[in-house]
Amino acid sequence: MENMRLQKFMALAGCGSRRKCEAWIADGQVRVNGAIVTELGTKIDPEQDTVQFRGKRIQLEEKKVTVALNKPAGYITTSKDQFGRPNVCELIDLPGVRLYPIGRLDYQTTGLLLLTNDGELAYAMTHPKHHVAKVYHGILKGMVQQEDIEKLRAGVTLEDGYVTRPAQAKYLGAAGSHSRVEITVYEGKNHQVRRMARAIGHPVLKLRRVAVGSVRLGRLEEGEYRVLTQEEIQALK
Ligand code: URA
Repeated sequence: MENMRLQKFMALAGCGSRRKCEAWIADGQVRVNGAIVTELGTKIDPEQDTVQFRGKRIQLEEKKVTVALNKPAGYITTSKDQFGRPNVCELIDLPGVRLYPIGRLDYQTTGLLLLTNDGELAYAMTHPKHHVAKVYHGILKGMVQQEDIEKLRAGVTLEDGYVTRPAQAKYLGAAGSHSRVEITVYEGKNHQVRRMARAIGHPVLKLRRVAVGSVRLGRLEEGEYRVLTQEEIQALK
């Protein structure tokens, strides 16, 4: 965000009209980084400077935005990376808006990733009690049999002893000598789908998420994103 005049910042933050804000500044009722400022032309950095009006901090209300991104392979979704690999946030170009991924997708997983600056939404969606459906299309090694599909549905024991909750699974067809499978999970353990596939003896060769709750990947190309509507956001909560 660009630097702006103090009175404009105050008006945008909802203190009152620009005229009134000017009067309050001239009257010594406003502090920037702790110091009283009476100069009307003073410019401030809305992201870095602390502005107080009558002793209370004032801030711009950031517009809440949630986007659906088609994540390409080769991007990380976590904030820290010791290998300097690119982060999905680099794919979003919304000036003045900083978004964070809701949950994770592995480095090599593609498909639907939601990003938001709405803390409430992120909290609700990642809470263990929130059983939003996450739908994946995977290519699993070898020929998956009906009994494997049944195992995925019933819940499988992962290598650490955790038993997955009932899921949905569908055989979609062959991919050469491998299998295309749709798996819907309602929880979000780390690398869950890959671990489930490994547990039935058919490791994931490729993985793409096609839906989260009622939001579908649709026709977004890899690397593309779109802003969700209020209705879509409400449906996720
Ligand atoms: N499950 C996985 O194993 N990987 C993902 O990226 C998402 C779900």
